[in-house]
Amino acid sequence: MQKRLFPLLTAFFLLAAAVLPVSAQVRHEIGFPDLPDYHTLKCDLHSHSVFSDGNVWPTVRVDEAWRLGLDATALTDHIEYQPHRDDIPTNHDRPFELAAGKAAQMGLLFPRGAEITRDTPPGHFNAIFLDKVEPLAVPDFVEAVRQANLQGAFVFWNHQGWKGEEAGRWLDVHTTLFENKWFHGMEVCNGNSYYPTAHRWCLEKNLTMLGNSDIHQPDINDQTTADAHRTLTLVFAREKSLAGLQEALLAGRTAVWFTNQMIGRREWLEALLEASVEISPPHHRGRDHVLIKVRNHSDIEIQLRRTGPVGPATATLPPRSTSLVKIGTGNPQGPIELAYTVTNFLIAPGEGLPVRLTVGE
Ligand SMILES: [Zn+2]
Ligand SMILES: [Zn+2]
Repeated sequence: MQKRLFPLLTAFFLLAAAVLPVSAQVRHEIGFPDLPDYHTLKCDLHSHSVFSDGNVWPTVRVDEAWRLGLDATALTDHIEYQPHRDDIPTNHDRPFELAAGKAAQMGLLFPRGAEITRDTPPGHFNAIFLDKVEPLAVPDFVEAVRQANLQGAFVFWNHQGWKGEEAGRWLDVHTTLFENKWFHGMEVCNGNSYYPTAHRWCLEKNLTMLGNSDIHQPDINDQTTADAHRTLTLVFAREKSLAGLQEALLAGRTAVWFTNQMIGRREWLEALLEASVEISPPHHRGRDHVLIKVRNHSDIEIQLRRTGPVGPATATLPPRSTSLVKIGTGNPQGPIELAYTVTNFLIAPGEGLPVRLTVGE
């Protein structure tokens, strides 16, 4: 018996040693629920490594993304800008190749990406879901974008209002790309910046809204919280796969989590709000009021301002919490109609999401 136990124990410890370094890592999930028909993928599709002007090795971005609760991330090193060139040879496909194995081990979606970085104008454009980055290293900007499209890439215009002649302006070169359907989205938010012009253009021209970190430094956070989070794109995907991610991006099913705001098309913000907020029927009916419990399952504080005659003038639903709400009414036994604006869910620049709901039916 003992003779057999020893090799078994040895095998167990060898196995444990092989497994523990992975299983000991902890990931804090980000609290945005799935929608009835879609997975809510938390994505950061713009980041840099030492292969361009970032300050981390490619695998570090994958570790960070997993730890911070992301489902998808992309390394999008500049093709044309490599300040570490003297130490790290130019190889545009190397960052992806170095990190892809680790991303697969961690179950992260990791499309191959690059940032097409010409002088401004026309501005910087990211291409993801590439087969190869190298063919994009051509002198002509439009040709680089065309090459990305020949590979079936999803292309988006980055940090639109950052600098240069194209900041806040749509130029002929953008019309050329747009009319050829060679770019499909825009960063409405990049890092700490929000670009209302990009937000408006996405609505007008049916472009996909994105928000990304564009992180260059190591991420010092060990988890994602409402107060300390990267600017992210929530992507509503039919399936959690690279193909599912790409289909959802092309279809424009996104919302952008930026500071304490959610930015997106009305349809998706409505769906996200509905999935995030759970309202219990009144558990107490007084002579002139009712009390209800409102639970916010998400990681964003939901800020409400009354637009109808009934209910508190303002209300705040903290992330991952239940709030007790008192509603004054002349008819506490009957249903109560509430009308509010979610002021931090932006369906257009400066315009909150209107909601109507009935409690106590
Ligand atoms: Zn850039
Ligand atoms: Zn960048």
